[in-house]
Amino acid sequence: MISEQIKELHKELPAGVELIAVSKFHPVEDLREAYDAGQRIFGENHVQELVAKQPQMPSDVEWHLIGHLQTNKVKYIAPFVTMIQAVDSLKLLREIDKQAKKVGRVIPCLLELHVAQEESKFGFSPDELHAMLAEGEWKALTNVSICGIMTMASFTDDTAQVRREFQLARHTFEQTRKEFFSDSPSFCKLSMGMTHDYKIAIEEGATMVRVGTKIFGERQYN
Ligand SMILES: *Cc1c(COP(=O)(O)O)cnc(C)c1O
Repeated sequence: MISEQIKELHKELPAGVELIAVSKFHPVEDLREAYDAGQRIFGENHVQELVAKQPQMPSDVEWHLIGHLQTNKVKYIAPFVTMIQAVDSLKLLREIDKQAKKVGRVIPCLLELHVAQEESKFGFSPDELHAMLAEGEWKALTNVSICGIMTMASFTDDTAQVRREFQLARHTFEQTRKEFFSDSPSFCKLSMGMTHDYKIAIEEGATMVRVGTKIFGERQYN
């Protein structure tokens, strides 16, 4: 039951760890059930689906875009999105800033860090992240607020490897905070951990976990 899973997770997660209920591919009725059980933060990874669901849910829902975002789609979510979690280029950050300005908002963003072994995943490597921040252009972007880092570990049963990847993300997060955000308290979010690895992520310092399957069951991709 969705509502039971939500209530259990809310009890299980330590104070200071936020739960993003990842509702992609699940119908709005399922989101309502989670909402009625007390869940307010939902994560979607496709713009079209997010834009379709948003008006069907109560206005106090916080919507996080957690998937890869194309620059030409930022405008559709800029008016309402609570946080954009997977910013993987300076170009995207610039476009979010531009669209946020148009609607008079400052949009909270997380920078996506690539720590997994899989080639295909998006995100900055630790070196690329450092280079982008050191270059400094981001400081002039007044309508985005960089609130931290999001990452995904490798999809593997090797929990030691998953743990090492989360540790690298945590280390990069701390170093980045120290070097570039020491005077901005809003840089405080470390988003990592999904259904199969959120417990490890919490042990390694996650402040946000993104859980889908455990709450809503298997997704039907059709
Ligand atoms: C789908 C997705 C999740 C949730 O995955 P589950 O295994 O269903 O918990 C978390 N993060 C991102 C970026 C996703 O795309």
